[in-house]
Amino acid sequence: MADVETVARRLQVANLAPTDAGRGVARLPVKLMTDLGLTEGDIISIEGKRLTAARAIRPYGDDEGLEIIRLDGLQRANAGVGSGDFVEVKKVKSKPATRVVFAPAQNNIRLQGSSEALKRSFLGRPLTQGDTVATAGQQRVNADVPDHIRQLLNAPAFALQEVRMTIVTALPKGIVHIDADTEVELLPEYTEKAGERRADVTYDDLGGMRDTIDALREMVELPLRHPELFQRLGVDPPKGVLLHGPPGTGKTRLARAVANESDAQFFHIAGPEVMGSAYGESEKKLRELFEQAAKAAPSIIFIDEIDSIAPKRGQVSGEAEKRLVAQLLTLLDGLEPRQNLVVIAATNRPEAIDEALRRPGRFDREIVVGVPDENGRREILAIHTRGMPLAEDVNLDELSRRTYGFVGADLAALTREAALEAVRRIMPRIDLNKDAIPTEILDALSVEAKDFDNALKR
Ligand code: ADP
Repeated sequence: MADVETVARRLQVANLAPTDAGRGVARLPVKLMTDLGLTEGDIISIEGKRLTAARAIRPYGDDEGLEIIRLDGLQRANAGVGSGDFVEVKKVKSKPATRVVFAPAQNNIRLQGSSEALKRSFLGRPLTQGDTVATAGQQRVNADVPDHIRQLLNAPAFALQEVRMTIVTALPKGIVHIDADTEVELLPEYTEKAGERRADVTYDDLGGMRDTIDALREMVELPLRHPELFQRLGVDPPKGVLLHGPPGTGKTRLARAVANESDAQFFHIAGPEVMGSAYGESEKKLRELFEQAAKAAPSIIFIDEIDSIAPKRGQVSGEAEKRLVAQLLTLLDGLEPRQNLVVIAATNRPEAIDEALRRPGRFDREIVVGVPDENGRREILAIHTRGMPLAEDVNLDELSRRTYGFVGADLAALTREAALEAVRRIMPRIDLNKDAIPTEILDALSVEAKDFDNALKR
C-alpha cells in the first residue's frame, strides 16, 4: 500500500492576500491537494531553507493548474524563502506538544497576557520551534472555508491587536500542535536571535500597495536575493530607489518589509536627525552608516525625508548642507553593484531634492506611494484589525467608504482608538486593585461598530 505521507512535491512559492495572512493556512490548487493526499484542513510540512508547517486550504480561483503554494510573509520567513523560490511540500501528522514557549517577536513590546489565553488562541495550529507566528482574532474567514476549518481559524483573540510571537521552544521536536494538555509559557520580552530572519514586518502588513510592492520586489528584493542572476546577465541592479508620497502612506514600513523579505539588514537614517550636528559630524555619521551596511550586506539603507539632507543646491544656504549632499553623492557613486547594498530614500517633496541625486547610477528609480483609494483603505483596515476581537456589527467596507482621504497612519490610529474605546467601556467592570482581569471579562471584550463611530468623532 502506498504511504501517502511520503509523497512530496516541489512547488513554487507565491504570496497569500494580506487578508489571509497570519492564520497558519497555505493555499494549494485542488489538483495538488489530491496528488498529495490532502483533504482541506490537513497539515503539511513546507521545507525551504527551514522547515515549517501550515494547514492546507483551497486555492484562489485563478490558481488551479499552477504548481504553486501560497504562503504569508511569516510562513515565508519561517521556511527561509521568498516568493518565487521553491519549497518541498508534503502531508504530515503533527504531534501534540508537551511544552511550548512563546516570546514577543517585536522588540518594542512587553507582554503580560495569560498563557491560558495564548493557549486558546493557538489551539490546533501547527507549529515548529523557531517559527514566528501571529496571534489570531475572531476574524471573518472567507466564505469558501468549510465550517470545521473555520472553527480552527476563528481562535479566540489573545490581545486587542495582533501580536507576533516567536516559538522559542516547542517540544517534542518537529511539527506539533497545542492541545489541552500542552504546557504553555509566555516570556515577557523579546530576545534577539543572532542570524535569524526578522519577520516583524512583511508584505502582508501593507494594504493597498500591491503594484508598489511588485515594483520594489523587482528592483530591490530580486537583486538582493539573487545577485548572481544580475551578474550573469551583465546588468547592474539599481543602487538607489526614491519613494515619494505624503507622510503616513507606508514608505518606511514598505522599506522595512522589503528588507525583511529580502533577508537583508535594515539601516534607518532620519534626515532631520543627521542634520545640524557639529562640524563634519553629519558626514561622518553618514559614512559610518554606509560602512556598517556594507559589512552587513545584503543591506538596505533607508533615508527618510531625504529632502532635509539633500535639498536643491540653489536653495541651500549653509556650507554644512553642501558638504552633506556632496558626501552622499560620493557614497552613492562609490557603491559597487557587487556590494549588495541598496539605498531607498523617501520624500514627500521630490521636486525639492538636489537634481544631482536623481542622475543615472544614483536614485534613478522612482516609485510613487499615493494616498489609498477605497479598496486600499479596506485592505489597510483589515490589516490593522487582524487579531482584534471584532464584533459582528463592524463593517469594514462601510468604514473604508467613510474614511475618504485617510492615509495608512490615520487608519492605524483609528483602529487603535476604537480598541481603546472598547477598553473604556469595560473599565467600570474591572477591579483595578486585583492583579489579573477575569477571563469572562476579557472574553466579552470586543471592538464594536460604535467604538469606531466614537473613534471617528475624535
Ligand atoms: P511614511 O514612511 O510614509 O510616513 P510609515 O511607513 O511610517 O509612513 O507609516 C506609519 C504607520 O502607518 C505604519 O507603521 C502603519 O501602522 C501605518 N500604515 C501606513 N501605510 C500603511 C499601509 N499602506 N498599510 C498598512 N499600514 C500602513
